[in-house]
Amino acid sequence: MTQTITVIRGDGIGPEIMDATLYVLDAMGVGLAYEEADAGLVALEKHGELLPQATMDSIRRTRIALKSPLTTPVGEGFSSINVELRKRFDLYANVRPAKSFPNTKSRFPSGVDLITVRENTEGAYIGEGQTITEDGETATLLQKVTRKGSERIVRYAFDLARSTGRKKVTVVHKANILKTTSGLFLKVAREVAAQYPEIECNEMIVDNTCMQLVMRPEQFDIIVTTNLFGDIISDLCAGLVGGLGLAPGANIGKDAAIFEAVHGTAPDIAGQGKANPCALLLGAAQLLDHIGKPDDATRLRKAIVATLEAQDNLTPDLGGTGTTMSFAKAIAGRT
Ligand code: NAD
Repeated sequence: MTQTITVIRGDGIGPEIMDATLYVLDAMGVGLAYEEADAGLVALEKHGELLPQATMDSIRRTRIALKSPLTTPVGEGFSSINVELRKRFDLYANVRPAKSFPNTKSRFPSGVDLITVRENTEGAYIGEGQTITEDGETATLLQKVTRKGSERIVRYAFDLARSTGRKKVTVVHKANILKTTSGLFLKVAREVAAQYPEIECNEMIVDNTCMQLVMRPEQFDIIVTTNLFGDIISDLCAGLVGGLGLAPGANIGKDAAIFEAVHGTAPDIAGQGKANPCALLLGAAQLLDHIGKPDDATRLRKAIVATLEAQDNLTPDLGGTGTTMSFAKAIAGRT
């Protein structure tokens, strides 16, 4: 059965990597139809709004979006369109896999295969209650963590472990110092973990986690943590396996999910056919998993690995001379 998804082509290199990604998905015959919707600078120019109602309606209808990076112009209402989308659809789980790939400029060309599950809607990162005194000497920020928010993200991480056959969840916290916020998160995590006896659960303080990730990343399987820690850890993990060109991300809620590349619009190479499409393709693989097509997701990931192994038409960021589309065609040929 054909499933319709919302496609947001985005700004900068967005349209190029989206063309490449849809080319591969179509070549694979995964049974997707696309409803195009605008967001970002393109939407501002066409519709006078960064996030038009028609785009929101499309995501509400299809419940699934594949999104290229967007430019949020400085001084245009939202601090970030991406954050706004997460808020409006209550996309509480940010899910970022980091996996070693062959022939990449990586410190860990093998051995890393982990997923960071980051709480996306509360904690220090959302910037609530920010004040600064008139004399500019004292700044404050409110950090709110709830039982409900903690429970649903930890449960998401354990369910993900269960559904993907992963063996271990590491709960990352700073409860020794942040006794209320991180303490509540840890307490709830322990309660949830007890309901998944077949999955190993360990606890790690965030600073130690960063050191362990750099020294022995292979010990991690799934990491679950609060918003700000997850933001930093997931970029650290992308760095371990060769940077943003290979890092996808999903933002998942009860009623909608948005899949994307983690990198930005790369204005320095936009329009030149040099952009690496792999991050968005790997985001599409997460989408296929999410909509119940895990075999197609695996087929896509294997084709990406095989193309990297063969060094066939790799884009310049990976040391090749291929183009966005020739790389995509090489991947499609291996699916
Ligand atoms: P960026 O990720 O766009 O670029 C950083 C560097 O990585 C650049 O040198 C770029 O050429 C390179 N790069 C990024 N993606 C690449 C790819 N697929 N292939 C090859 N090289 C790639 O980060 P930035 O320059 O800080 O941000 C540019 C714009 O993107 C800003 O307007 C920012 O707001 C926006 N942004 C959007 C998102 C999103 O929509 N999810 C995320 C981050 C940044």
